[in-house]
Amino acid sequence: MTEVQRGTLLFTGKAKAMYATNDPQILWVEYLDQATALNGKRKVAIAEKGLLNNQIASLIFRDLANHGIENHFIKQLSDHVQLVRRVNMIPLETVVRNAASGSFERKFDADHLMPFTQPVMEFFYKSDRLDDPFINDSQIVALKLATPTMLAEMRRQAQLINDRLQMIFAEMKIQLVDFKVEFGLTAAGKVLLADEISPDSCRLVDDTTHESLDKDVFRKNLGDLTTVYQEVLNRLSVVEGGR
Ligand code: ADP
Ligand code: UDP
Repeated sequence: MTEVQRGTLLFTGKAKAMYATNDPQILWVEYLDQATALNGKRKVAIAEKGLLNNQIASLIFRDLANHGIENHFIKQLSDHVQLVRRVNMIPLETVVRNAASGSFERKFDADHLMPFTQPVMEFFYKSDRLDDPFINDSQIVALKLATPTMLAEMRRQAQLINDRLQMIFAEMKIQLVDFKVEFGLTAAGKVLLADEISPDSCRLVDDTTHESLDKDVFRKNLGDLTTVYQEVLNRLSVVEGGR
């Protein structure tokens, strides 16, 4: 691969800045040292957060690829930067839940962390303007956000990702309560896992202390986010290093 160089800034999101590169197939992703809540309405600078999420996401993407789950990750370039394969994002958030929490708990007044006999899968329409509303399959197809075939493939991959992530986090003595992933389409029309998987997009609970080890620490002011993310990285490095 010829040396990849950063090009123009394409988009600054809530957690990452995306740049073009000298290769049209490759994006330069900078993980930002900031946290947001309430769909970006609350934004705070947090030292090291981008660095930690970059390392955590890189380890997870590499592990998934090693276990047959292809994804956009190419390589970690530096503390804050990852190179990824550029795809056409499908504007949906795919949420997988193993126990009741967050919006599921609120919507159905379910007992906190009530375990599910089989995972719950939900889609949300990615739209800041509309506050990412819940969306069902026929609504997705009606709005031409994805075809039924693409939806089936997203569900299939989300299930495999859940199986693998649950295994990794169990080894880390962490319960994977729920998580969100995003998919894109390659030029060849293949559904590919993209964006990030990190404590920003997962709900993680320590097996022993039952404390949150994810962005809920920021959302609910439960403590120092950097310390918690560092703990997740430490445990992940031990698990992955031992393979
Ligand atoms: P948000 O949209 O929540 O503010 P981020 O700050 O994480 O999110 O910004 C990253 C943006 O880049 C998101 O819009 C995401 O859908 C998009 N993205 C992630 N991976 C890829 C990829 N491989 N190709 C193209 N776009 C991507
Ligand atoms: N999630 C995310 N980005 C979003 C919304 C949700 O990464 O814009 C993740 C969230 O961290 C959790 C899962 O998706 O792991 C389910 O979120 P939920 O619907 O319960 O919403 P919340 O109450 O977390 O806003």
